[in-house]
Amino acid sequence: MPHIIEIKNLTHSYQKKIPVLNNLSLDIEQGEIFGLLGPNGSGKSTLFKILSTLLFPTKGSILFEKKDLLNSREEVRKHIGVVFQNPSLDKKLSVFENLIFQGYLYGLKGKKLTQKINTILEKLDLITRKNDKVEILSGGLKRRVEIAKCLLHNPKILILDEPTTGLDPSIRASLWKDIFALKQEGMTCLITTHLMDEAEFCDRIGILDKGYLMALDTPSHLKKNIGGEVVTFKSKNINDLSQKLKKTFSCSTKILDDELRAETNNGSDLLTQALKTFPQEIESVTLSKPTLGDVFIQKTGHSLEQ
Ligand code: ADP
Ligand code: MG
Repeated sequence: MPHIIEIKNLTHSYQKKIPVLNNLSLDIEQGEIFGLLGPNGSGKSTLFKILSTLLFPTKGSILFEKKDLLNSREEVRKHIGVVFQNPSLDKKLSVFENLIFQGYLYGLKGKKLTQKINTILEKLDLITRKNDKVEILSGGLKRRVEIAKCLLHNPKILILDEPTTGLDPSIRASLWKDIFALKQEGMTCLITTHLMDEAEFCDRIGILDKGYLMALDTPSHLKKNIGGEVVTFKSKNINDLSQKLKKTFSCSTKILDDELRAETNNGSDLLTQALKTFPQEIESVTLSKPTLGDVFIQKTGHSLEQ
């Protein structure tokens, strides 16, 4: 697939302080759902502000369809739709009025604009709420109106900054259905999240930590590369058990949140052997397939929640 966005050696520092994005290079493929996964403060919104042409980076280059994004910002803006982390709707206006004003900003008007709005509202299942004031809508519907707003000018890529934060799981799921439907129509979506289960929905993900890109691949490849399975032990003397397991079974171990995690190709074997060899030291043990949470820990040395 051709690349719609190519980011090379991007670095950004606010007020000349420590960089919050560090020499980041990544490409977004046409038509994919790309997820940027990282904890709060990892630089996701900063990258979004740069990509949406609102912030000029300290260093680096970005191509949008092979054009220099940083030097053709007016042109690029015509082709991107942005849903920011903070709500951008006028609560006192109706859904329709919000969309009308957005349309004006893009130079759309008259019958063409009204038709476009109706089509989008139909598509996003918002048509019955067209004349409702935004302030009476639920959080999930408001988010959908935000998406409707940024579709008006037929963008080639949608960039969404934590679009599901603060929403109930069922509403999050319905928003993801909208995102999948847009992908079906050929839309490229770039989405940030700090939620592991959402990252699973993406075609590819980048793991961002403290402004560094720590991993970049499909969720399944990232999980596969971790090894077979993860065995998690609880013990009163966790450091001691860690040393013993390493020495006896030559497995890699990591202590996190009072738990000892071992990654291995054959989890059930390790689990059984460890229980047999160190019955006194082990309080409890669980076996699981690697999750993106495990990938995150392996790549960054800490859990996403930390
Ligand atoms: P995320 O979206 O992943 O939570 P941000 O990009 O918002 O991360 O923030 C990355 C870092 O940059 C944080 O340490 C944050 O405090 C800092 N930061 C964000 N915006 C500004 C700003 N306008 N001025 C100074 N520092 C900022
Ligand atoms: Mg953010």
